[in-house]
Amino acid sequence: MAHWDLLNDDEQQRLGQRAIDLFVNVRWEAANGFSLSDEMTMLIAAEASLIALERPADSFRNVHAVVVHPTTMVMRGQHSQVAGVASDDPIAIIGQADPTGPVLIAWDAATHQARHPEEGNNVVFHEFAHKLDMLIGIANGTPPMRDVDQEQRWVGACTGAYERVVEGRSKALRSYAGVNPAEFFAVATEVFFDTPMLLTSHEPDLYAVLADWYGQDPAARVPRT
Ligand SMILES: [Zn+2]
Repeated sequence: MAHWDLLNDDEQQRLGQRAIDLFVNVRWEAANGFSLSDEMTMLIAAEASLIALERPADSFRNVHAVVVHPTTMVMRGQHSQVAGVASDDPIAIIGQADPTGPVLIAWDAATHQARHPEEGNNVVFHEFAHKLDMLIGIANGTPPMRDVDQEQRWVGACTGAYERVVEGRSKALRSYAGVNPAEFFAVATEVFFDTPMLLTSHEPDLYAVLADWYGQDPAARVPRT
């Protein structure tokens, strides 16, 4: 997990404990005859724990099970991959989170992305961000806020950045962020933790509200020697 070397001793210690808590408290399953080692489970648990490291300890109380697939899954049923366009065609996915079912993760994507944050994609950050969003009902791109001020700043920053994605003008967020506000938050979370310098230079207002909400400043982190 490339992010590990960016954390100080205190953060590493707390991240380790959070990951163990998830390891113990969540039901981890391997799909389709796949087998899941403790190391694999701990990698996913540690990545999930990173994004919520400065959030309340029970932030993943709505995560009851994680099903790890060896590789890409096929999803059927209506979905949208492009803003405003719904489809019934089967689609390849590397992860999924819904309000009641387990979180689904494709292992090959998760392990590759854990080593390559520079690519700006992270299915574990993405799906667990959806679960944070779902802490107050359905995912709508606005996770639980401290107060009205924080929510107003959040909505203001996200609205501008979301419009730039929808209009194809975003220099920091991939087009999938324009499908709906929930996907926007999940994709923004990936970029915030994986390529924070890119996000802070192109979308400073969005970076600021994410830093405030997550309680972390990834752009300020430097690799330890
Ligand atoms: Zn998503």
